[in-house]
Amino acid sequence: MEVITQSPGETQKLGQKIGSDLKSGKLKKRIICLYGDLGSGKTTFIQGLAKGLGIKKRITSPTFVFVKKYQPSFYHVDLYRIEKLEETKGLGLGEIFSDPQALVAIEWAEKIKEMLPKERIDIQFNYLNQNERKVIIR
Ligand code: ADP
Ligand code: MG
Repeated sequence: MEVITQSPGETQKLGQKIGSDLKSGKLKKRIICLYGDLGSGKTTFIQGLAKGLGIKKRITSPTFVFVKKYQPSFYHVDLYRIEKLEETKGLGLGEIFSDPQALVAIEWAEKIKEMLPKERIDIQFNYLNQNERKVIIR
């Protein structure tokens, strides 16, 4: 599926829709991988996703924290500052991926492509212009 969003709010709405489909079980995946340059809308999308999952807290861009856990059982992983796969050792990602209760959204997921489970949703974000982003979901 390919969508062009014309505002941050539209990107959040798209995330929210997927979040509520995950929550209801209409979508049966647990690992959501996000790809795209800085400012392409990954965090904005995850804010909507969390809302759709029923998470009350506002999701922010972690500056130094790579993994942030929200209740109930939602993990926001941001690998922007990771340069090598080995730097992710100690983050407990393997454990999180194998926890059947855990829902995980990973920004810059390409940095750990060797460890990504096959069962996942891949979402690519492309900057088109100041207000438009192309979002490809597969
Ligand atoms: P990333 O996490 O990919 O680095 P962010 O979601 O943090 O990106 O930032 C996206 C920026 O682009 C925000 O400042 C947001 O307001 C802006 N923006 C403008 N148009 C859009 C859009 N259609 N979708 C998402 N963000 C947009
Ligand atoms: Mg981000």
